Amino acid sequence: MSEQTLSNLMSEDRRFEPPADLAADANVKEEAYDRADSDREAFWGEAAERLDWGQKWDQVLDWSNPPFAKWFVGGTLNASVNCVDRHVEAGNGDKVAIHWVGEPHDDTRDITYAQLKDEVSRAANALTELGVRKGDRVAIYMPMIPEVVVAMLACARLGAPHTVVFGGFSADALASRITDCEAHVVITSDGGYRRGAASALKPAVDEAVEKTGDLVRHVLVVRRTGQDIEWNGREEGGRDVWWHDAVDGASAEHEPEMHDSEHPLYVMYTSGTTGKPKGILHTTGGYLTGTSYTHWAVFDLKDDDVYWCTADVGWVTGHSYMAYGPLANGATQVMYEGTPEKGRWWQIVQDYKVTILYTAPTAIRTFMKQGREIPDGYDMSSLRLLGSVGEPINPEAYVWYREVIGGDRCPVVDTWWQTETGQIMISPLPGVTAGKPGSAMKALPGISADVVDDDAKPVGNGNGGYLVLKEPWPAMLRTLWGDDQRFKDTYWSRWEGLYFAGDGAKLDDDGDIWLLGRVDDVMNVSGHRLSTTEIESALVSHPKVAEAAVVGAADETTGQAVCAFVILRDSAGDGGEDIVEELRKHVAKEIGAIAKPRQIMVVPELPKTRSGKIMRRLLKDVAEHREVGDVTTLADSTVMDLIKTKEGSAP
Ligand code: ATP
Ligand code: MG
Repeated sequence: MSEQTLSNLMSEDRRFEPPADLAADANVKEEAYDRADSDREAFWGEAAERLDWGQKWDQVLDWSNPPFAKWFVGGTLNASVNCVDRHVEAGNGDKVAIHWVGEPHDDTRDITYAQLKDEVSRAANALTELGVRKGDRVAIYMPMIPEVVVAMLACARLGAPHTVVFGGFSADALASRITDCEAHVVITSDGGYRRGAASALKPAVDEAVEKTGDLVRHVLVVRRTGQDIEWNGREEGGRDVWWHDAVDGASAEHEPEMHDSEHPLYVMYTSGTTGKPKGILHTTGGYLTGTSYTHWAVFDLKDDDVYWCTADVGWVTGHSYMAYGPLANGATQVMYEGTPEKGRWWQIVQDYKVTILYTAPTAIRTFMKQGREIPDGYDMSSLRLLGSVGEPINPEAYVWYREVIGGDRCPVVDTWWQTETGQIMISPLPGVTAGKPGSAMKALPGISADVVDDDAKPVGNGNGGYLVLKEPWPAMLRTLWGDDQRFKDTYWSRWEGLYFAGDGAKLDDDGDIWLLGRVDDVMNVSGHRLSTTEIESALVSHPKVAEAAVVGAADETTGQAVCAFVILRDSAGDGGEDIVEELRKHVAKEIGAIAKPRQIMVVPELPKTRSGKIMRRLLKDVAEHREVGDVTTLADSTVMDLIKTKEGSAP
């Protein structure tokens, strides 16, 4: 079946009904859509009852000053109490919150909710000791270790918004984020493990702190690897404090304050896939309501599930669906320090009997490239649900994921959302929706999405256009940090009253939504609009191709021409002499001659952000023979050199 090709996205006709037992016992049933439609605010008010509030709200939504929303007005709560204390108080203190798996084999820790509560309280006391007060910003630059979650929750407890910066980013990227949100404290570690070796983090912090003048007063450092690092302790008038000195001895009692529902929880900078990262501000009550409700609804979370979201904490998915959503729901989850080493993920699934796996298409395509023999060697019968996020999932990758990882029994939920939306917006419901490979299907209950044309008119079924959100939602961004005007200009100025997501989409004849990639990436070839996603999916449907990225490059005759970069499956070897012609013909057959790439380059890697998104703007630079642009948010900055070398040798 996974070798079967598709004619193109819109004629994809495979359907996967929800498993009967899952459907019968699903957390959310069909009726939720109608209930939410008939009274959206009542629906979200009910969802907010999932949380523990200090003071209950007086008003669900204040939308009197759009686009500045206020949710659960007058309510007070503490995010860390909702993620930890209340589970302990409810008698679940012994339940494992985090099965942590380090990159070095056998380096594991299980942390119960009771232990997490003590650790968060200690860290909150330690931060207070370091002068952190409500409203102060704290930067976090750490590997995937439990302390990063503790640090986030300790900040939330104090009402000190955190900004987590991906540990793979450079000192410059860290410095610009510290400066943008004026953080006085940075929490980091000596280093972390990456691909089998200890790699240092602290030197980048030192460099970043140096660049930001007197801004940073304290650097709190977790000892993770034990490697040698430069140390400027407080005794010598420096800024560095060891986590184990400050936190371990602190009291495990901490009286939490209830914060206003709209109190800032964190600032997260977007991936920068399309340009300079934006500091997205999320607040407390609405964010926690939106993330915990969707985590429970979309993943059909049950008390005995073992959930695993593979996202790095430096990405919004790590915030909403590793930290806040699952912990607010009292879930047991796996947290893994490493990158997708061959077979290791499946070993973890087998060892911890993971039931729900949430990952990105890029990871799935990497596993497809390596071949199914690897996952086939493990017992993954515990899995019952699979999720995807970050990019459109190509139908072939979806079907492979479902069959090879999910044993053809697990539904796949393709979840569309953004750093800005905070919560999943468009997704199947696993107990309700008959899934279509490649489609995120429809807006969740309580969410209102549509596809419109240039004049904001709904395009109707069977047509494509711009994806918009029509009504405010609880976890929506409140503004861009310190820049209300840019917030309005970026998202709300294109059409009155509509949130412009920046993504293109099509509605099929049933009204289901197919995401087509960034509007900025849409190509215009001889007057025809072509989406990157459609051509990429056609390429990935070829049995020799594992991954593809398509860009439009300026062309004298056609306006723009399609240029493709492909990674072949390991089983395809070098693809054979005629591989380029074979793939060009394949695209022509799948979509039409107009979509036939002018140029196809077989490459070993593609440039990706930390969240696994392909940075097409860099490929476009290559295709148009320009100097490659800003690469600071690339997960691996050497990739562009590999591709440019390839380009030099291209025919
Ligand atoms: P920047 O806004 O700085 O360019 P970014 O948009 O890559 O960065 P994120 O907020 O992490 O940063 O990504 C959100 C985007 O990811 C969406 O707008 C969409 O293009 C894409 N995306 C996420 N999930 C899906 C999905 N399930 N299907 C299709 N696209 C998705
Ligand atoms: Mg974006």
